[in-house]
Amino acid sequence: MTSAAKPIDTERFAAGLRARAIDVEGGRVLISRLTGSSQEVDLTVPANCNGYGRVRHFRLATAEGWPANPLPIAPACRALGIAPVPDLMTALVFQNAACAWRCWYCFVPEDLLKADLSRSAWFTAAELVDLYRQIPDAPQIIDLSGGSPDLVPEWTPWMMRALADAGLAETTYLWTDDNLSTTYLFDALPHADLDLIRRYRNYGRVCCVKGFDARSFAFNTRAAPQDYDRQFEILRRVLDLGLDVYGYVTLTSPHDDGVPQGVADLMDRLQAIDPNYPLRVVPLRIQIFTPVEQRLARDDARARSLAIQEEAIAAWMSELERRFSPELRTLQICDVPLRARSA
Ligand code: SF4
Repeated sequence: MTSAAKPIDTERFAAGLRARAIDVEGGRVLISRLTGSSQEVDLTVPANCNGYGRVRHFRLATAEGWPANPLPIAPACRALGIAPVPDLMTALVFQNAACAWRCWYCFVPEDLLKADLSRSAWFTAAELVDLYRQIPDAPQIIDLSGGSPDLVPEWTPWMMRALADAGLAETTYLWTDDNLSTTYLFDALPHADLDLIRRYRNYGRVCCVKGFDARSFAFNTRAAPQDYDRQFEILRRVLDLGLDVYGYVTLTSPHDDGVPQGVADLMDRLQAIDPNYPLRVVPLRIQIFTPVEQRLARDDARARSLAIQEEAIAAWMSELERRFSPELRTLQICDVPLRARSA
C-alpha cells in the first residue's frame, strides 16, 4: 500500500463490518479463530478455548527509553485486591473478527479483520464465559480485543452480564480495547447497557490514539487524516462517561519534521479533554511481528517510522516532565485522577 492510495472511508467501512460482525438479536459476536491463522506463530502458548482464545502475557518492562507499561496490570490488581503489583500478569484474550482500519504494524493478520465467516465463529457471551471457566488456572484478566471491539460495543455489557451470571464478576477483571474509530457506543447501545458499563466495578477501558498528528495517523491506519481529529471527539465522550479510562498511543510517523511539536500538540489535545489524562496514557513501541515483517519489507517509510518513534518518545517523556509535578508523575496509573470520575 502506498501513501497515494485512497484512504479508508471509516464510517462506511465500519458500518458494513458491524453488520457482519454482530448479531444483536441473537446476542452473538463474531470471534476470530486463532488456530490455523498466521497469527498463531506469534503466540507463546497455543490458542485455547477451542482455538478462539489466547493467553497474553502483559509485562511492566519495556524497551530502554520507553516508560514501563502497567496496563492492564495495575488497574486489574487494584480491582482484584492483588498486592504487591507483579511484573507480569496473564490475560485471556478474545478477538472480535473485524476492524475498519489497516494499521501497517497490526499484529493481527488482515484476514482476521474482515468479518470472514470462514475464519471466525459466532459466540454468545455466556458461551465465551463457559470457555473461560474450562481453562485450568484461568487468568483473572479477560481482555476483549480485536479487531475493533468498538464496532460491537454490545459485547462489553453482554460479557459483564454473563460474568455476573456465572458468579465471576468479582474475581475477574474485564479489560476492553477501544480504537476510537466509531461512535456506536453512544449511537447503538441501549441505555441499560451503557449504565451497566458505567456501574460495573471490575472494568477498565483502554483507548488507542494512533499517531501524534494527522499525517502520522493516516500513515499508520490508512484512514483519512480527518479521522485523527475524530478520535479526540470520541475520546472526550468516553471520558465523560466517567469510566476508568486509560490510553495507548503509537508514535510511528514517516516524517521527521515537526516531531517534538506534533507530540506537544498531541499532549495539548489530551489535556484539553482532561488535564491529567496523559499520565494515564502509555506509548506503545511498535515491534515487529510476523504479519508486520512482511509488510515492513515492502516499504521504506515504515522502516523509517520505527526510528522516528524513538525521537517521538523522547519528546513525550520531556513533555510529561515539563507539564506534571514529580508527585503526579509518580502516582500509580490507576490513581491518576480524572475529572469525570471525581465529579
Ligand atoms: S485499529 Fe487495531 S486491530 Fe485495527 S488494524 Fe489497527 S492495530 Fe489492528
